[in-house]
Amino acid sequence: MMADKHTKVLIIGSGPAGYTAAVYAARANLNPVLIQGQMPGGQLTITTDVENYPGFKDGILGPDLMEEMRAQAERFGTEIVFDWVNKVDSGQRPFRVMTDKSSYTADSIILATGATAKMLGLDAERELMGFGVSACATCDGFFFRGKELVVIGGGDSAMEEATFLTKFASKVTVVHRREEFRASKIMIEKAQNNDKVEFLLNKTVEDIIGTKEDGVSAIMVKDTATGEVSQFPTQGVFVAIGHTPNSQLFEGILDTG
Ligand code: NAP
Repeated sequence: MMADKHTKVLIIGSGPAGYTAAVYAARANLNPVLIQGQMPGGQLTITTDVENYPGFKDGILGPDLMEEMRAQAERFGTEIVFDWVNKVDSGQRPFRVMTDKSSYTADSIILATGATAKMLGLDAERELMGFGVSACATCDGFFFRGKELVVIGGGDSAMEEATFLTKFASKVTVVHRREEFRASKIMIEKAQNNDKVEFLLNKTVEDIIGTKEDGVSAIMVKDTATGEVSQFPTQGVFVAIGHTPNSQLFEGILDTG
């Protein structure tokens, strides 16, 4: 059996938190190892313009920002590994970490595993994922050229996705369960000022109508005031209702002995 590689600091995750931790640990001469996970650079690699990261006055593309961070972490001596962590034994010192390709012992571990898009939990949403339902406008928007779409949610993600999707769609309706938005003013205004964006408020999405063969044809929405359920025609559904921390999923592989 191959011997474990020892490191003082093992960082799990390659989003902004992971790379920031790596820059600091490397500059403290701790020679960190950073395990990138399945999506190097994390969720920012599937977004477009980042306008609110200080230091880039004209904005920067998400993938470019993550490449800058990776290079900065590497410059100070972080060992960056494309691998996936399967198990963490924190019941012994040093900690032991098993990955797809290797195993490590580490004096300390930094969990920087980010978050995953939350879904509504509807059966139809699961069945039609990739067949008219998506959680990533930059990944799938291209497939909806000339179509009428809905984006579900009222946060920055929903506003960003709605605005982005107007590049392809003929109309985008933001469906939100309240009248007020969680999104920042500037993002709301951008969506509101876009001629292709409309709003359907005080509605929850109860079901998605469609088939794998023909895609989505409508959503069933319920009015939060009257309880009335009605059909709203659409050819695609983008879910943008927030994120769940991946560290929760991590509890399943964290063995505390
Ligand atoms: P969020 O701010 O948590 O917003 C989630 C939205 O989805 C809320 O409006 C929420 O409604 C709604 N929602 C949640 N669960 C729902 C459900 N089961 N059914 C229907 N609606 C539901 O999440 P986010 O928009 O993904 O943003 C996450 C973080 O990333 C925020 O800090 C945001 O500022 C940031 N972000 C920034 C940018 C940017 O600046 N460019 C872009 C994207 C994200 P309620 O409001 O009623 O709870």
